[in-house]
Amino acid sequence: MGAFVYWQGPYFFQPVAIGSAAAPVPLTPPAVSVIGRQTGTEMAGKSAYRRYYLTRKRILSGMRPTGKLHLGNLHGALSNWIALQNHGDYDCFYFVADWHALTSDYATTDDIRANTIDMMIDWLSAGLDPVKSTLFIQSNIREHAELFLLLSMIIPLAWLERNPTYKEMKEELAGKDLSTFGFLGYPVLQAADIIMYKAYGVPVGVDQLPHVELTREIARRFNFLYGEIFPIPEPLLTEVPKLLGIDGRKMSKSYDNSIFMSDRGDVLKKKVAAMFTDPQRQRKRDPGRPELCNVFTFHQLYSTGETVAEIPPACRSAAIGCIECKRRLAEAIADGMRPIHERREHYLRHPEEVRAIIEDGNVRAARIAEATLFEVREAMKICHEL
Ligand code: SF4
Repeated sequence: MGAFVYWQGPYFFQPVAIGSAAAPVPLTPPAVSVIGRQTGTEMAGKSAYRRYYLTRKRILSGMRPTGKLHLGNLHGALSNWIALQNHGDYDCFYFVADWHALTSDYATTDDIRANTIDMMIDWLSAGLDPVKSTLFIQSNIREHAELFLLLSMIIPLAWLERNPTYKEMKEELAGKDLSTFGFLGYPVLQAADIIMYKAYGVPVGVDQLPHVELTREIARRFNFLYGEIFPIPEPLLTEVPKLLGIDGRKMSKSYDNSIFMSDRGDVLKKKVAAMFTDPQRQRKRDPGRPELCNVFTFHQLYSTGETVAEIPPACRSAAIGCIECKRRLAEAIADGMRPIHERREHYLRHPEEVRAIIEDGNVRAARIAEATLFEVREAMKICHEL
């Protein structure tokens, strides 16, 4: 089990204040609302703000802007990010990893800008608060590139070649040319992203543990060569519910089986109606096995406790058909996602707010990145006084 398990279920959108339900929040952030808010920079001079932010452990995580986020992303990484943000003990830095998108998609960059903004809107709509969390774009902080370059000088090639996910990803993305320096070196860029902010922890799933281990190795090597600059980041294991796509495979954009966060109305209904169910239940009179049915997994996240208690016996005794079960699920998802869709509408209508949030996050991130690079250049003796 991971160190951070905030999953509350069965009704996801009630416990969005997950941190406060699972563990009392010891410090209260300054009261602000996301919409029509004061920016973090405007608040930075205020002592309540400083007290709140300086006493917390720093967390860092990012996502590649490769297209719309789906419910698997929402209930996986994103809900955990929100829980960490709301917990109160953590100073969360979340970034859109647009340079990382180039490591596998360098030839098709037309959508990166739009995807970056769309991803930020999805984050804000889901409940990331730009005052509690620092939200920024990787390529706006040029120090990431400089630290990546400096680290790449000290990393043995064998460390990258033996990276277990390197071969796996090459096989998974077989249609793409991944024989580039950028793709082999992406764990170094990832390490630069993390240690730049002297992160205490990185929220990850089990499959990403080797990456964090490599980052820890890189930080240790730097410290050994040039002195103790970087804390060694901890992996913060996250347990997430296993949500499958509508065809029963892992939910993924490349399988074209995703329910996107922005799906609503008829699009949502059609996707839910097309979901695979218990394969043994061919006819309505066949008894079903809800514990093996992806539709029921979604009910556990979106439906009320009453519905979640009602469905298993009704399914096992064939008192409810899959069509009715899915109809109820589509309604529950639509209800649960309504606040997210409303916030999404707001940000789509006010792109200037999104821009201001990004600019503010960039300023906050750059302040730390500049200070770290100053230390790094000093430690490596490559700062020249002219
Ligand atoms: S009734 Fe619902 S839980 Fe049971 S098999 Fe059909 S869709 Fe799945």
